[in-house]
Amino acid sequence: MTLDQATIDRLAAAPVAPGRLLIGADRVEGQNAPLEVLSPIDGQVLTTLASASAADVNRAVAAARAAFDDGRWSRQPPAARKAVLTRLADLIDRHAPELAVLGVRDNGTEIAMALKAEPGSAAGTFRYYAEALDKVYGQIAPTPEGVLGLIHREPVGVVAAIVPWNFPLMIGAWKLAPALAAGNSVVLKPAETASLSLLRLAELALEAGLPPGVLNVVTGPGRVTGEALALSMDVDVLVFTGSGPTGRRLLEYAARSNLKRVYLELGGKSPNIVFADAPDLAQAAKVAATAIFRNAGQVCVAGSRLLVEASVHDDFVAAVAEATAAMRLGNPLDLTTQIGAVNSLPQLQGNLRFVAEAQAEGATLALGGARALEGTGGYYMQPTILTGVQPDHRLAQAEVFGPVLAVTPFADEAEALRLANGTDFGLAAGVWTSNLSRAHRMVRGIRAGVVHVNTYGGADNTVPLGGVKQSGNGHDKSLHALDKYTDLKTAWIQL
Ligand code: ADP
Repeated sequence: MTLDQATIDRLAAAPVAPGRLLIGADRVEGQNAPLEVLSPIDGQVLTTLASASAADVNRAVAAARAAFDDGRWSRQPPAARKAVLTRLADLIDRHAPELAVLGVRDNGTEIAMALKAEPGSAAGTFRYYAEALDKVYGQIAPTPEGVLGLIHREPVGVVAAIVPWNFPLMIGAWKLAPALAAGNSVVLKPAETASLSLLRLAELALEAGLPPGVLNVVTGPGRVTGEALALSMDVDVLVFTGSGPTGRRLLEYAARSNLKRVYLELGGKSPNIVFADAPDLAQAAKVAATAIFRNAGQVCVAGSRLLVEASVHDDFVAAVAEATAAMRLGNPLDLTTQIGAVNSLPQLQGNLRFVAEAQAEGATLALGGARALEGTGGYYMQPTILTGVQPDHRLAQAEVFGPVLAVTPFADEAEALRLANGTDFGLAAGVWTSNLSRAHRMVRGIRAGVVHVNTYGGADNTVPLGGVKQSGNGHDKSLHALDKYTDLKTAWIQL
């Protein structure tokens, strides 16, 4: 999908309608006072967003349950579900410019990437699971003669999905598409600073023929609306992408309520590891810059720790700084912008605190470190590089979720591996080397859900994404994602 600047500007000039809840077929106000949506582009009020109370959330869950129980979706023939999800993918493609611009206006991602990563990715994900849903079979168990053991795969029932603000459509689709493909009903809770494009997607789902009640959307603050959803006694499975502290709370809510299954995709402090024998150090430096700075570092798999072999450290860091300085920071609705806005003011302030703390702990500021474009009223931050970050510094251990790169040198492969594994996280990693044996040793040795070799951040729907350690559990994408949204049932039949 290509888009010209004039079209973007036209779409961005349109007023944004207030966001309402979607419960069954109804777009309704929440019982709590609506929230103001501030645009990170200029700090101005963009629109308002309905704020769902616990009672609103319970009505949405009841609508999802009723839809599941009467089979209006869960018992439709696979071919019928496939047709609806394929139509939805087509509608997302058709409305891609509108969805991308709307999303950027409340979350701040640079538009050139948003087009691909948001509607583009979401359409692909719906298409992938639409295609998959009639190709997943149950099993016949190797039982003794005289007995037939069948293993059925059934939808779980009501799925709650709580998603973050960095890539609402992409991550939303990672949850919605397999959940719906498997026949479940869903209650979706987008982030309060990135709900608008997902509300629009839910409208498109109705237009595509998804029966009302199968997909419900509740918006509002995490500690009110999200909490009520996670405490619901009638949600079977809760899937989440977001921060570690919220993930912990969700597990507590599940324990305090109905022991719903909880799948968490949490943050990372992902090491991007550069050996002196990398095939192309200049290319590695460019990718190291984009691996952390695209979407202003607000990417769960961001390569936020750069580990560099000591013999090439200084030259490599200089090359990364040069590549970074060449990236254009600016209004995310400008097609040439490569680093957009930080999602919110509190997030920006938190990023800046990380920088100050790192310097207080002894790290050296090599680039950036300050707020940018303040005159716009928007939330921008200079891409920031800190060198000499020690493994025990907070910047080496805690996720910033912003445009801040921590650089640490290493002496040899053993130290690189020790540093790579030396955090509580285990989401992603990169390894740059032309030594094939070393590449395989590192892939095996690094505890992470994905290890990129001589690249960073590449992926598509065919491969799973999920974390180990405190980066979470369960997987999005690929056929493995269907495991979260289906139960196995055994039929043991005496013949
Ligand atoms: P971040 O700190 O990056 O905003 P969060 O984990 O707080 O990440 O947010 C991710 C999603 O979790 C958002 O939709 C948010 O509203 C929701 N959320 C935040 N706190 C809670 C909570 N206590 N219970 C349920 N959902 C929550």
